[in-house]
Amino acid sequence: MRKEVTEIERLREILRHHEYQYYVLDQPEISDQEYDDLMRRLRALEEAHPELVTPDSPTQRVGGKPREGFVKVAHSTPMLSLDNALNEAELRDFDRRVRDLLGGESPEYVAELKLDGLSLAAHYRDNTFALAVTRGDGSVGEDVTENARTIRSLPLRVKAPWPVFEVRGETVMDRAAFERLNAERDERGLSRFANPRNAAAGSLRVLEPTITASRRLDYYTYFLLVGGNPAFETHWESLEELHRLGFKVNSHRRLCRGLDELLEFCARWEAAREQLPYEIDGVVVKVNSVEQQRRLGYTAKAPRWAIAYKYPARQALTEVENIEVQVGRTGALTPVARLKPVEVSGVTVSRATLHNEDEIERLGLQIGDTVVIERSGDVIPKVVRVHTQGSYRRPFRMPAACPVCGSKVVREADEAASRCINTNCPARLKESILHFASRGVMNIDGLGDALVDQLVDRGLVKSVADIYDLKAGQLEELERMGRKSAANVVRNIEKSRQNPLPRVITALGIRFVGERTAVFLAEAFGSLDKIAGASVEELQRAEEVGPKVAESIFEFFREPRNQALVERLRAAGLRFSQEIRRMLVGPLQGLTFVLTGTLPHLTREDAKQLIEAAGGKLSGSVSRKTDYVVAGAEAGSKLDKARELGIPVINEDQLLDLIRVG
Ligand SMILES: [Zn+2]
Repeated sequence: MRKEVTEIERLREILRHHEYQYYVLDQPEISDQEYDDLMRRLRALEEAHPELVTPDSPTQRVGGKPREGFVKVAHSTPMLSLDNALNEAELRDFDRRVRDLLGGESPEYVAELKLDGLSLAAHYRDNTFALAVTRGDGSVGEDVTENARTIRSLPLRVKAPWPVFEVRGETVMDRAAFERLNAERDERGLSRFANPRNAAAGSLRVLEPTITASRRLDYYTYFLLVGGNPAFETHWESLEELHRLGFKVNSHRRLCRGLDELLEFCARWEAAREQLPYEIDGVVVKVNSVEQQRRLGYTAKAPRWAIAYKYPARQALTEVENIEVQVGRTGALTPVARLKPVEVSGVTVSRATLHNEDEIERLGLQIGDTVVIERSGDVIPKVVRVHTQGSYRRPFRMPAACPVCGSKVVREADEAASRCINTNCPARLKESILHFASRGVMNIDGLGDALVDQLVDRGLVKSVADIYDLKAGQLEELERMGRKSAANVVRNIEKSRQNPLPRVITALGIRFVGERTAVFLAEAFGSLDKIAGASVEELQRAEEVGPKVAESIFEFFREPRNQALVERLRAAGLRFSQEIRRMLVGPLQGLTFVLTGTLPHLTREDAKQLIEAAGGKLSGSVSRKTDYVVAGAEAGSKLDKARELGIPVINEDQLLDLIRVG
């Protein structure tokens, strides 16, 4: 046993080293094969000794269980957004303001690339990654710990001098991973992510950690906080320390003495931005000295000591060769501009979405016109305006008949979209099935474009619920389906009956109800029948559900056709209910505290309330299960016991730092 313990520890150390070399430094020392072999050995040892598995083991990155929702967590200090400088003049204004407020001092600035991703706070306790929280609204975010754990450049174990600390940074998806992901989605008939930022955000906030793991996200840190405050006297030192601790810090940064160096940095990377492996949309400028930052302070919504210098959008001119129409899941007809291929900052663009007829009218666009298109990180660009009218231009008309089924197309008075009215339109049915089967919804692997086309075209599936009656024998006879793949698809369909309620809600394809809203609905009501029976007012009890969404849900369940679908899905054995859980918890979630001695300001009862309000538990005696002992004056035997067991002892200030909100 002792031997295995040593071997496991040794393997973990080696794997951590290689993870760091590969994912943080981008300098692998061993081949993927060798890495996999090491990982396999560790996994085998851990399987033989499950009691030795710890959450910081490299094996624990992948394989977390799907969740049914995200817990809310308050940030130690708000994650504020930055003010923008849209051009050189505004950056000069910023510099002038800073110098004025500092009474004429000329501060040093730190310039960092502004990565286009999702901000994330990662908390460490006892040198172990413990909690990851999205930015959310800035004061309260979502606990995405299990998903963040799959990001290889986020270390699970570090050697830091503080018992508790926090890093903040940006979760990004690089261009290569983004292109791969969209290519894969194309193949599966899923909608593409508009840009790497959306893809990163979507990947971090899915309910299934294995999806996050497959998305190859990256995490670049830029803040190091201890007790909610900067850990060093200058921002630059914090970045260096983060790098030393093994975090990924963007190497393209510069300590600038004055505005000219700053402008030079901004201009250099604007010219070179396409050579980077990831998207940036500007440069973040921060005053280096923390003491000066404190003097500058904050406005109501942003720090006065930092600004985001934004690069202008990337535009190009091209001709609209045609406008085509696509039919979506809800029957909505979306016009898409077919463009003469043109390169916009390194990417060839041949189509742009036009959303709906109103948008085309607003633009005054006709086929044959030359237009300005813009990519703002987005891969599918948008048409900004008509540049010159074509000499042979012709107006676009929304077809009166559906291009797929030939049914009538109508446009409701209060709606922007035109729709095919045929609820049995093959295009709609196909899109509905693909939506139902997609990852993050019912997760039916193998039920992709090619198969769905055949199922619908041959009349094997006339309603989404029909897929639960499919037999392997029927599938085997289809093109490109062997015996094995047919059996696989049927097994995956079978497995999908176990999906939790939020997925079933998402799968119904109710307008405006995505994965996230489904989670909130499931939490508020606990069962599909309660949601179906709720009034428009009652539906708004669920988080983020406003009148428009509530109306759409209400209408959905009043439609006889949808009622029939729900009944058939019930008969198929899908899960229609879940336990309602309490969602709001604080930063001390899962931690147990013991109080001893007299605290300088808080009474025992105050401290208890504060700890419990932040999600922590208070216990009367010290044991191995205690996470922290809060000690005041004249602390007694509990303090001795804590020292004996090696449990961290903190004072009142440190306790408040742990739970401080806003
Ligand atoms: Zn149609």
